[in-house]
Amino acid sequence: VDLMTDERQFDLARNPVGDHRKRFILVCARCGVAATVNSNKTSSLPSGVVRGKFVERGWFVGQDNKHDLCPSHVKHPPKPIRDPELPLVERIEKSIQVLEQGLGEFLQLDHPRHHEKVVAMLSGFHERVFGSPAS
Ligand SMILES: [Zn+2]
Repeated sequence: VDLMTDERQFDLARNPVGDHRKRFILVCARCGVAATVNSNKTSSLPSGVVRGKFVERGWFVGQDNKHDLCPSHVKHPPKPIRDPELPLVERIEKSIQVLEQGLGEFLQLDHPRHHEKVVAMLSGFHERVFGSPAS
């Protein structure tokens, strides 16, 4: 690519009827928000000037329109995707704490009458999830 001819070309926005100024448009590649830069005359502006006006307003002007970012996306780049398994593990951890608390109260009963039922539930669960009976 010849750097001298590698100037960014900006798309022209649709003008209201009767307005013949050139209006350059930039659209955020992430959220679709648009901004325009108006030329005062019907003649074009050098693309370096147009770029400067967008940058002044906080936009990131990419190498093409797939890389343009609005000011809020320049400030808040997308967060790295969090491992979806981790929140689940945290929820399971909390559930186990609740379960342990319940079992603790159960064991404090003098003669738990539903002992076998509880053990069967726990074994059945373990077997369904991990494929073998709890030892
Ligand atoms: Zn945006």
